[in-house]
Amino acid sequence: MKSWAPPSMPDLPASPGTVRVRDSRTGEPLPVGRDGLASMYVCGITPYDATHLGHAATYLTFDLLNRVWRDAGLTVDFVQNVTDIDDPLLERAALTGQDWRDIAERETELFRTDMHALRVLPPSHYESAVESIPDVVSLIGQLPPAHAYTVDGDTYFHSAAVGQVCGWDRPAMETVFAQRGGDPARPGKRDPLDSLLWRTEREGEPAWPGALGPGRPGWHIECVAIALRHLHAPISVQGGGRDLLFPHHDMCNAQVLALTGRPLADAFMHTGLIGYQGEKMSKSLGNLVLVSQLRQRGVDLAAVRLALAEHHYSQDREWDEALLARGEARLQVWRAHADAPATDVLDEVRAALRNDLDTPAALALLDSCCAGATTEGGVTDGATLRAVADALLGVLL
Ligand code: ZN
Repeated sequence: MKSWAPPSMPDLPASPGTVRVRDSRTGEPLPVGRDGLASMYVCGITPYDATHLGHAATYLTFDLLNRVWRDAGLTVDFVQNVTDIDDPLLERAALTGQDWRDIAERETELFRTDMHALRVLPPSHYESAVESIPDVVSLIGQLPPAHAYTVDGDTYFHSAAVGQVCGWDRPAMETVFAQRGGDPARPGKRDPLDSLLWRTEREGEPAWPGALGPGRPGWHIECVAIALRHLHAPISVQGGGRDLLFPHHDMCNAQVLALTGRPLADAFMHTGLIGYQGEKMSKSLGNLVLVSQLRQRGVDLAAVRLALAEHHYSQDREWDEALLARGEARLQVWRAHADAPATDVLDEVRAALRNDLDTPAALALLDSCCAGATTEGGVTDGATLRAVADALLGVLL
């Protein structure tokens, strides 16, 4: 499906280098990308509601990685999905009397508008779950028999490799599995943690033809199908919010291991959750700050980027008006010094960002460009604060 138009991107002086990110499996930094290439799969939205700041923080983090890789001289292949058929979407359709396709189309379009307004580089491949269904059917057919079985017509994935990404013990996995769409207690399953590959047609639900009879795909296999269609495992990074660590990314990895003998990714990267009014920002709690509302309020989204970059991406953060005000204040100062040379700090900014996207350090270094100490002599090589902020941070001054 179509993505969105790319933002402009100023050139900085070339600076090949190595980018490291923290792998969730070990907590240790790993070099990601090799031989001039990097590949990234970032799990997309389920389009039943608008993009909130929790989503934005995640997608801005991986946009930062995309920019930092490019700046280090790598060619980036970035793939993202839209889960445009899933239980929450059908539930929203039933609740509101709308067609699930209309909701998905409308919310996906709003997401594109939000991402474009945030100056997020678009994916090279943007694919919806519905588009992936022929690949899902094909992949299920390719699974070794030991990994797939049916319960009352529904097909499940079975693997001993579950838990490799999250590293949790079984009681912890079983508890969270139930909270995040899994069905550990269903009779007939070989293992409580087996996940749905294909849900056979139910009355009143959409269904697609397949070798397993009419039905629709389970959640994890959609991302596997889209990732393997466009990228080769292991990809450099699979990313998403920390609530995707288990079961989603764990199950994706186990399925790719079963299909290819290789892990899905070299590194699994997860962003911290964004809180608001003391709770995690979530659709179910209703405490959302929507990107589209901020746009309507006239908030400059460059200030939102700066506000969210104030803390490291892996930290849980609280969104409030004070944080936004600090982002706006910093933006104002940077704009007043947009033509200041940033050459003296550029190497250090790059080193900070290539070290697990250390945005607090990068912001502090760029703040120093505004202090007056480095503004003498004018700019000769184009590395102004404006160029560095735009190319590396996506912040337009
Ligand atoms: Zn996914």
